[in-house]
Amino acid sequence: METRACVLHAKEDVRIETREVPAVGPNQVLVRVGAGGLCGSDIHYFWEGGIGTICVSEPIIMGHEFAGTVQAVGAGVTKVRAGQLVAINPSQPCGHCQYCLDGLPQQCLDMHFLGSASLKPHTHGGFRDLIVVDAVQCEAVGELVSVGEAACTEPLAVGVHAVRRAGSLFGKRVLVTGAGPIGSLLVGAVRHAGAAEIVVTDISPAPLKAALAMGATRVIDTRAEPDRLDADYSANKGYFDVAFECTGVGPVLKSIFPVIRPQGTIVQVGVTPSPEIAGNALVAKEIALIGTHRFHPEFAQAARLISDRSVDVRPVISATLPMEQIQEAFNLVRDRSTQMKVQLSFA
Ligand SMILES: [Zn+2]
Ligand SMILES: [Zn+2]
Repeated sequence: METRACVLHAKEDVRIETREVPAVGPNQVLVRVGAGGLCGSDIHYFWEGGIGTICVSEPIIMGHEFAGTVQAVGAGVTKVRAGQLVAINPSQPCGHCQYCLDGLPQQCLDMHFLGSASLKPHTHGGFRDLIVVDAVQCEAVGELVSVGEAACTEPLAVGVHAVRRAGSLFGKRVLVTGAGPIGSLLVGAVRHAGAAEIVVTDISPAPLKAALAMGATRVIDTRAEPDRLDADYSANKGYFDVAFECTGVGPVLKSIFPVIRPQGTIVQVGVTPSPEIAGNALVAKEIALIGTHRFHPEFAQAARLISDRSVDVRPVISATLPMEQIQEAFNLVRDRSTQMKVQLSFA
């Protein structure tokens, strides 16, 4: 059996090619992929040939945010059955290193993350019509939602894990800086966690609109009003109990310190090579600054939140193109004034 696949050869060189589909092992599942979302890492791979220290040095099947329908299962599989809509967890931790055994598989020393070029050989991803994955990677998402919604499980799981890192949000005042797909999905998770107020900042119209639809109580366009956040929320040592920094832009992190309350928490979600920290405020206001990386149990939780629309992810999906138009999709997704999550559809 063969499948079409989106193979990145080098920057700006993605081709639709044919690949052999392996036999389904006893604990494996054959999935017909229906939708796959372009993520920040895919966008960097395509336009720059890598991200940070990671370089695409050999052909790689792209994609780690995808969902589809179970076609066949191996003899030992009980978790899912043929016909079910499933989201695929791209994490493949080794299961036996010290961090896996410690219950921190997202910190695995030998992680094989689908669609990632961080290892050699690269780990192929899910932008293809058919894929064989381990049954443990599949989470059923029920009958109610579309395959495109199911394909938002991975980025929502990032938000759910970040929310868990922050501790209880019930009744709290929350700031989210950056309302791209990760930030906006995180807003949905923050709302579901019971926050009383959710103020969201961004510099583009599409993210701000999506953030409102996902549950923000107020949005601020910091390009139009660069001083608004500070003017409204810095009195008396600050206002927010928790902030999630999703832009990865150094000065944005710094702008949070005046508006966070003493003993408040800042969760850095966006990857930033150049964080700017207000050291005096960090100490004097006893602020907790913490990181967050991927997810693990939160993938299944995110699938459940999507399955009954406890978190309705539809406002975040801005366009869907057939997989043959992957090049156009990478062009389209660059337009932050209109685009959020751009997805591919498969046969
Ligand atoms: Zn992603
Ligand atoms: Zn491990």
